[in-house]
Amino acid sequence: MKIRKRIAIYGSTGSIGTQALEVIEAHADLFELEILTAHSNADLLIQQAKRFKPNMVVISDESLYTKVNEALSGDSIKVFAGEKSLIEIAASDSYDILLAAIVGFAGLSSTIAAVQQGKIVALANKETLVVAGDIVSALVHKHQATLLPVDSEHSAIFQCLVGESSREVEKIILTASGGPFLGKKPNYLINVKKDHALQHPNWTMGAKITIDSASLMNKGLEMIEAKWLFGLKNEQIEVIVHPQSIIHSMVQFVDGSMKAQMGLPDMKLPIQYALAYPERISNDFKRFEFKNFPSLTFEAADTKTFRNLALAKDAMLLGGNAPCVLNAANEVVVEAFLKNKVGFLEMSDIIESCLEKVPLIEKPTLSDYIQCNYETRALAASFIK
Ligand code: NDP
Ligand code: MG
Repeated sequence: MKIRKRIAIYGSTGSIGTQALEVIEAHADLFELEILTAHSNADLLIQQAKRFKPNMVVISDESLYTKVNEALSGDSIKVFAGEKSLIEIAASDSYDILLAAIVGFAGLSSTIAAVQQGKIVALANKETLVVAGDIVSALVHKHQATLLPVDSEHSAIFQCLVGESSREVEKIILTASGGPFLGKKPNYLINVKKDHALQHPNWTMGAKITIDSASLMNKGLEMIEAKWLFGLKNEQIEVIVHPQSIIHSMVQFVDGSMKAQMGLPDMKLPIQYALAYPERISNDFKRFEFKNFPSLTFEAADTKTFRNLALAKDAMLLGGNAPCVLNAANEVVVEAFLKNKVGFLEMSDIIESCLEKVPLIEKPTLSDYIQCNYETRALAASFIK
């Protein structure tokens, strides 16, 4: 019998986390669930723990420790709480692959802890590479850790690169669905509210990334993520809008040949690919059929209307702590938009102001990034009434 891979799911109560549990459940012969973590959704964490019987769970909101511990007292599951536990357990020997599916800056510290132990990290948390891509990449190299992309575009590129030499890549092309507001102009966007923005045409995801998709910030974050994951120069990264989300991304090689990875939009596939890598394992996911998609279309992104994509590109070109500023400001404005405290277009104004006001640090240390995140969040919050 094969040795099963021991999996830690950081952010098990989220969209990626719950889909990962489906993948693991369908392949119990290959995967063994060791660790589950949540922030504040104690009820779902308890339910997951009772069903999947991991060795450990972590609830990062410490005030919920007693609730989780009492609920799991008869189940021989170790219960921990707080960010410190997330970090300590990420650095432990108790698992083989950490699925980093915490949303936002909050996922950075545990991912770094895993990387510093030379672990395999299946990375959904793109913010980690946006905030501190240079430091994380250097640590991956130093500790011989492995980052396997879970983001569908990056999984697509990773799959296109199998058997290829990275020196022979001319450029990559990230596809963007365009989100629910594709084709809309500022006079329309000025009035849109969260309920509409949360309706993504092709993907069902957590609230933050769904708003990022509607504003095209998600694609901006993904450009920066791709830069670090694949060691690319800024000018090797392009974006094209592809509303059907069937081509998940493409690589063009130095001879002009292009490879694309295709399939129906379903995050379970890139999650499964990362967990099973380097193997491909069979599944019963719905298959793509050309006859159901007679036309796959492509168009340039409207960065005059969706300014977040242009701002993200500016931040990528600036480098240093600029992407960290971009990310921190974005996390604050998205949260505010979800509480109806800022308008859709106002989000870009606040991010732009933060990029202008926070001093550029060309070679930040990790503590510079942590400080920068903290200060930018306070600055962004000060723009919100
Ligand atoms: P969700 O909001 O659905 O889930 C986030 C998870 O992180 C939850 O388990 C949540 O716990 C936990 N969490 C939230 N805040 C904290 C915190 N401060 N400390 C510790 N844990 C926390 O997000 P998604 O699953 O949509 O996204 C997760 C990551 O994957 C993001 O970085 C996103 O960009 C990326 N991604 C997601 C895709 C998708 O299809 N959803 C596609 C590609 C990338 P709780 O439930 O208790 O709040
Ligand atoms: Mg993506």
